[in-house]
Amino acid sequence: MNQRYFAIRVFGCQMNVYDADRLRETLTSRGWAEGGEGDADFVIFVTCSVRDKAEQKVLSELGKYRASWEDCGKPRIALLGCMAARTGAEVAKKFPWIRVVAGPENLGGVADAMEESYEGGAPRLITGDTPELSCVPLSRSNRHKAYITIANGCDQFCAYCIVPYVRGRFKSRPPEDILKEAETLVRGGAAEITLLGQNVNTYGRDLTGSLAGYGFSRLLADTASIDGLKRLRYLTSHPSDFTDDILDVMTSRRNICPGINLPVQAGSDKVLREMNRRYTRNEYISLARGIRAALPHAALTTDLIVGFPGETEDEFEQSVSLLEEVRFDLVHTAAYSPREGTPAAKRADQIPVRERARRLVRINGIQTEISREINERMVGHKFEVLLDEPAPKGEGLLQGRTAADKVVLVSAPPDMSGKFRDVLITASSPWCLDGEII
Ligand code: SF4
Repeated sequence: MNQRYFAIRVFGCQMNVYDADRLRETLTSRGWAEGGEGDADFVIFVTCSVRDKAEQKVLSELGKYRASWEDCGKPRIALLGCMAARTGAEVAKKFPWIRVVAGPENLGGVADAMEESYEGGAPRLITGDTPELSCVPLSRSNRHKAYITIANGCDQFCAYCIVPYVRGRFKSRPPEDILKEAETLVRGGAAEITLLGQNVNTYGRDLTGSLAGYGFSRLLADTASIDGLKRLRYLTSHPSDFTDDILDVMTSRRNICPGINLPVQAGSDKVLREMNRRYTRNEYISLARGIRAALPHAALTTDLIVGFPGETEDEFEQSVSLLEEVRFDLVHTAAYSPREGTPAAKRADQIPVRERARRLVRINGIQTEISREINERMVGHKFEVLLDEPAPKGEGLLQGRTAADKVVLVSAPPDMSGKFRDVLITASSPWCLDGEII
């Protein structure tokens, strides 16, 4: 049989990067080779469904394969991930070059389905019970950094969110599997590991028997104890599940990075209630203060949605004032995007698109100034930086990160990638820092 080639296109979050890395490992171990799109027999789309824009992007990309498919019957497409779980079957009817469809819970059946698709017949829509995608992603796109998903799905059911409907209910992976994977990754050269989950703080709540009570802080401590692991991060937390024991472990382990993403989503109690976020503005603010007291050098980032249905001008201004009060290092902002199937999308009091856009511009303006002021204070200070990859812009520049996850640009040769160096910060912008190795 001729050598078969695949190419992978990843959209959305780090969990999709992790899934793509494991798929790559599985396929190469079965004799497939990774190639460019031009030579690919199969192009794999690992998709996102968090906002309509993400899905529209994939739909427009899928249309581009019509000519080559009608011309030579390739590449075949595997449509995977959250969008596949939500609308995969319908999308496959529109684009006959889609031969495999699988949601995040069914990735373990993808390699078989890709090979079976050459026997002809209808596209393979993978559902039901499929084996775990079990391999450790050693041939990753980034050798010194690795992600590990510690739990799949989510039980929070925030009113605007599609995740519980496409990634399923919350399910912790067994701790021994996660620790074994982390040890293998560290032995394989990973200096930094990020533990991933929609809400990592509830890790272990569904574990039973001898593992009952094995929670997130214990997993954090056990992972941090792995010999040779220089940096440990985790993503994403939920304010109503972020408990003191997590902070205790973070303050007692030097290799757990003081960068915390704690999505607040809104500043008004009424909007938080209607989002089903289960905490109040004041509870959030006191939690942020507690984190800063325990970890004075921590970087605190958040996610914020503007224009949630029914959000009045005054309630929006409460989000603005929350940013001014908490002063986050960085805020991932988004205008509300109705996701079919979620409670919020059914509401009649949708905010007009233009008004959502106006609020987004205003909130981004406010946060840009806050991030600028915070980063300006870092000029003249020295930080240990993990030099990572060539900077997206600028000749001879490497991009790296401080322990608190601040992006730093330094001029350094490519072979410094993966090295830790002390860097003196010489300049700043709202988004990143410039520095020189000392
Ligand atoms: S916690 Fe996050 S992933 Fe879960 S439903 Fe809420 S927004 Fe979605």
